Order: sequence, then C-alpha cells, then structure tokens
Amino acid sequence: MTQISFEFFPPQTPRGRANLVRTAKVLARFQPTFYSVTYGAGGSTRERTFDAVVALRESGINAIPHLSWGGDKEDAVVALLGDYLALGVDRVVALRGDLPSGAGTSRQLRHADSLVRLIRSRIDAPLDIEVAAYPEVHPEAPSASADIDFLKGKIDAGATGCITQYFYNAEAYFHFRDRCGGAGIGVPIMPGIMPISNYETLVRFSAKAGVDIPRWIQRRIDEIHGDNEALRAFGADVVARLCQRLLDGGAPGLHFYTLNKAPPTEAVAEKIGLPSPSG
Ligand code: FAD
Repeated sequence: MTQISFEFFPPQTPRGRANLVRTAKVLARFQPTFYSVTYGAGGSTRERTFDAVVALRESGINAIPHLSWGGDKEDAVVALLGDYLALGVDRVVALRGDLPSGAGTSRQLRHADSLVRLIRSRIDAPLDIEVAAYPEVHPEAPSASADIDFLKGKIDAGATGCITQYFYNAEAYFHFRDRCGGAGIGVPIMPGIMPISNYETLVRFSAKAGVDIPRWIQRRIDEIHGDNEALRAFGADVVARLCQRLLDGGAPGLHFYTLNKAPPTEAVAEKIGLPSPSG
C-alpha cells in the first residue's frame, strides 16, 4: 500500500488557516495517511503550529505536528506533547531544527535523537515518531556514513519511521535506502517530494538544504524561466517520473512538501494515478 502524506507550514492568520483547511480538503482525494505541520526555527511557530493542527483536526483532517526543542526545556516540550495527545494526535515529526536567522552561532542546538529519547521516556501513549533523513547527506554531517550512523541513533532512540529531505535523483534515494538497510535501519524511509512550481523558491531552498538540482533540470528551467505554464508542465512531468521510479523501486510511499498549495502536488499525484487502486 502506498502511503501518502502532505506537509504544510503554519499560516500567520485565521484567514490563512481557513485557506489551509480548504487546501487540505482539496488534497484529501489522494487519501493521505496524515498531513504534517512544520515547526518554525527556534520554536518560533509554537502557537501557530498548534493552531493549524487544531483547525485541520476540527475539520476532520488527520494533522500532526513537527516538533523541535526550540529554546524549550523538557517540561515545556512534554506539556506541548500532552496538548497534542489530547487532540488525538498519534504521530509527530521530531527534529533538531535550525537556528532562527540572525541567532548567531553561539547557541547550541540539541540533536533530534535527544528529543526522541525524551518523548519515549516521558510519554506512555502509543505514538509514531518520524525523524528526518538525508539521501544527499545533511549539510553539516561530517560524512555520509556518520549521517547514517546518527540516523540509526534516532531510530534506536525510538523513532518509528523517517521522512527524507527532497531530492531529484532517484539513485540518491535507492543508494541511501540500501546503505540504511546495511546499517540495520529497518523502519520505512519515506521519500520527501518537492513539486516544482516556483524557480526562485526552489533554488533558495535547495541551496540552504544541500539539495542538488541536476544540471539538466536547471538548464531546462533556465530556458522556460518566466513561462509559468511551461514551468508547471515541466515540473509536473519531472517530479511525476521521479515518484513513479521511487514507487516502482520499492519506496513505501511519498511525502509531499506542498508549500501550502494544492495544484503543483495535485498535478504530480494525478500523473502517477494516486490514490493507487490498492489504497
Ligand atoms: P539531527 O538529526 O540532529 O541532525 C543534524 C546534524 O547533526 C546532521 O548533520 C547529523 O549528521 C548530525 N547529528 C545528528 N545526531 C547527532 C548526534 N547525536 N551527535 C552529533 N551529530 C549529530 N526544520 C524546521 O525548522 N522545522 C520543521 O518543521 C522541519 N521539518 C522537516 C521535515 C523533514 C522531513 C526534513 C527532512 C527536514 C525538516 N526540517 C525542519 C529541517 C531540519 O530541521 C534541518 O535539516 C536541521 O538542520 C536538521 O534537523 P534533524 O532533525 O535532521 O537534526
């Protein structure tokens, strides 16, 4: 069974939340297992993430939060998790996160494995914990092997699945998945998929996240830059082919970074025939 999930970021305003609920409902026809809502750097969206999860869940949508330490102490994180559990949340995405821009380098971030350990030591309720994984290697990792060892540490701490950073090279995912298997990581590794809709956003995100945009994609986008219709068609085609290859190669599902917009994700999902007949 192909597991589909959609990622959102928390809107700023009640109107934005209402729009998000509408977007989530449009995407519901693809039968996602869950919708996740990101957590701003340094915990900057603590309330907004919570409010978005509440708004979505009140509309019958299975929304779950991303969570990082931010600047919080253990008790505050556990209290926040308690609030989520009271809403019926049964899954979280546990992250180290990044420092807010302008925070300087003096502050130390606590790694995601410590958050997973905290959750497992203080929360009794059944809870799936997803962690982040990086087929093209996290930009701060000392090496590709160390990055996988640290991922193993997050699984050993109690994570039940991973969601990857997005990528445009299927081989990167297959190589990574096989190496993870070799390292004893047995949980599902869900590929993260970024539909292509806006060139500037894609370039900015990818540079920061250490994601490679293959030269052939870059060159074609350069050529059609400014022609939104052509960009949408090219993006949907490239990303749909990537998704199909991943599924054909045994990926357990797809996690879409929607950037809160339905059409680019819909275009890809339609092209690959989601929801698949088996569900
Ligand atoms: P970690 O697992 O802690 O890894 C960070 C770096 O440290 C890596 O280089 C790793 O190799 C290394 N490392 C890991 N563990 C250890 C250890 N024990 N000792 C030493 N080094 C270690 N960011 C947000 O701000 N909000 C979000 O909601 C958000 N959602 C995301 C969802 C997904 C699916 C993904 C893939 C990323 C997301 N991010 C989000 C981005 C993420 O926060 C950044 O990539 C961040 O830099 C690393 O977070 P992490 O949880 O992977 O950290």
